[in-house]
Amino acid sequence: MTRAISLKRVSKSYQRGIRAVEKVSLDIKPGEFLVLLGPSGCGKSTVLRMIAGLEEVTEGEVLLDGEYANDLDPSERNMAMVFQSFALYPTMTTRGNIGFPLRMESPGEDPSPRVDATARMLGIEDLLGRYPHQLSGGERQRVAMGRAIARHPSAFLMDEPLSNLDAKLRNHLRAEISRITREVGATTVYVTHDQAEAMSLGDRVAVLRGGILQQLDTPRMVYARPANVFVAAFIGTPRINLLRGVVRAPLDGAMSIGLGRQALRLPEPLCLDHQLLRVQQGREVIVGLRSEAVRLAPRSAARPAEVPISGLVEHVEYQGHEVLVHLNTGSQPAVVPELEAPRPQPTVRRRRDTRMTVLDRLRERAVSLRAGPVVVLDRDGDEYEPREERLPAPTGDLVVRTTPDIDLRQGMQVPLLVDLDHLFVFDRYGERISPAPDHAPDLGW
Ligand code: ADP
Repeated sequence: MTRAISLKRVSKSYQRGIRAVEKVSLDIKPGEFLVLLGPSGCGKSTVLRMIAGLEEVTEGEVLLDGEYANDLDPSERNMAMVFQSFALYPTMTTRGNIGFPLRMESPGEDPSPRVDATARMLGIEDLLGRYPHQLSGGERQRVAMGRAIARHPSAFLMDEPLSNLDAKLRNHLRAEISRITREVGATTVYVTHDQAEAMSLGDRVAVLRGGILQQLDTPRMVYARPANVFVAAFIGTPRINLLRGVVRAPLDGAMSIGLGRQALRLPEPLCLDHQLLRVQQGREVIVGLRSEAVRLAPRSAARPAEVPISGLVEHVEYQGHEVLVHLNTGSQPAVVPELEAPRPQPTVRRRRDTRMTVLDRLRERAVSLRAGPVVVLDRDGDEYEPREERLPAPTGDLVVRTTPDIDLRQGMQVPLLVDLDHLFVFDRYGERISPAPDHAPDLGW
């Protein structure tokens, strides 16, 4: 049996007004592998625990197969949890640990056939007689998985199950988790702060920030079409280059995006994906360039969608199969705050004051809904005139990948080509405006 799990505008408040989860809505299909991804403290575990029934829902609804389930006990939900700490019983062998939930469920029945079948599936038959202290970290995690699988749950809920393991083992078990959950066919909700893990495991990824769902989509789409600058910066290695730019649209010339001392000239007529840039004329924006959007090559090698800029080599990072070149292009990096550990804002809790107007209450509520700005720019005015003398000295602002055979040294000025087909632009609130979102208004151009 596998099941559909839905959250309808689910929120969770802890004491002292900590709003850990804010109006999260998710529809998880039967058999789907959904990853909850975000930095530490963004509410992932809280969402998982509300699905498990281990945490009360403050507002909103949890539906299991379409049925209201807020009040169901964890034992009534037929879900199995796998935690980061493997939590095996130290006095029981592997056989005892895997069989324990089965004995609790059906006291009269012999759990051996199911324990043996599970051990075979996980390749741990030879560990059945061992105690936890006789197992390695990876083996203990397999036993913990076995305990979850043996019950034939309708859903697996996994909370950072691999984070205590070394990198090699993590990669190996990641593949195993993917294989086993698909073989069992149970719906899986998997919590991680590791974007690479999320991208390799998930059918879909739900990105959370400050308790608020930022985007829910396939790994391919969250990478290629991040909803905002936070998602763009959280996903992908090396991290996307984020530069502060300003949109220029002179009456007598082509549109461009100024990047400090240089500019990206946009070809005319503007393609559909760049149309919303017109509205940003004169405003500060954030330009996002993944490392594959820029290459070291002379202007003469430019393909139709590529435009030239140049950069000063500041540092060369040798990685074996490739080289990461840190360049200074004379622009300013944009900062995404709390990328590592955003904290939900405590809500202002006041005793209900009869003198408070409706507007006051709405205002108070709006404060509690904020996860804070997604991006920090200097000013929030509409028009932006870059005055270079006010800006701090530019530093290495662009990381580009290249092959190790090119001889690059610090201080070299190198030509670069920016592929406009891979250009991201975000407005000053951090929302993506290029490529234009699907729901972009028809501007009639
Ligand atoms: P994540 O799993 O993304 O690291 P959590 O869901 O554990 O985040 O926590 C989200 C927020 O809720 C954090 O700010 C955390 O400190 C807070 N929180 C979690 N559990 C409790 C609790 N029992 N009491 C008060 N605050 C909590």
